Amino acid sequence: MTRDRELLDSGSIGDPKQLQSLQAELESLARRQSDLEDVELEIMERVEGAAAAVAQLTEERDALANERETLATSVHEQRAAIDAERRMVDEQRAVIAGDIPSDLMGLYDKIRADHGGVGAAPLHRGTCEGCRLTLPPTEIEALRAAPPDAVIRCEECRRILVRTPESGL
Ligand SMILES: [Zn+2]
Repeated sequence: MTRDRELLDSGSIGDPKQLQSLQAELESLARRQSDLEDVELEIMERVEGAAAAVAQLTEERDALANERETLATSVHEQRAAIDAERRMVDEQRAVIAGDIPSDLMGLYDKIRADHGGVGAAPLHRGTCEGCRLTLPPTEIEALRAAPPDAVIRCEECRRILVRTPESGL
């Protein structure tokens, strides 16, 4: 456009057809420039939209990173608490196990290994808390007649039954 305009302003072109053609080219270039400016505006709007999306996603990513850190800290603390509780329970278990006759302890460990880690269960109102079977009245009668130090077992799951005041005996 600058070159064409300089050429036009120089007055060196005398031919009217050449002048007309030059003017037409200038008009065409002006339209082209206007079109390109529209495209530029559109692209700038898209850039702004993308920048806003980047800002939002960055904010979300930072929030998630914070949350992950908080959760990791929580997991770490809970794991430490569980480990401490396990050590305490292990110590208590060792003290209790030391008072139990070895043959009964052996029986308990065998049943425990065969029954998902539960070798003994309370008898609660005539029901074995290990397998949830309500014992028949004849069985309750037999358990009632058993000596207090006898090892009694559930006839269904064979777990050792622990008598409590709520056993229903
Ligand atoms: Zn049972």
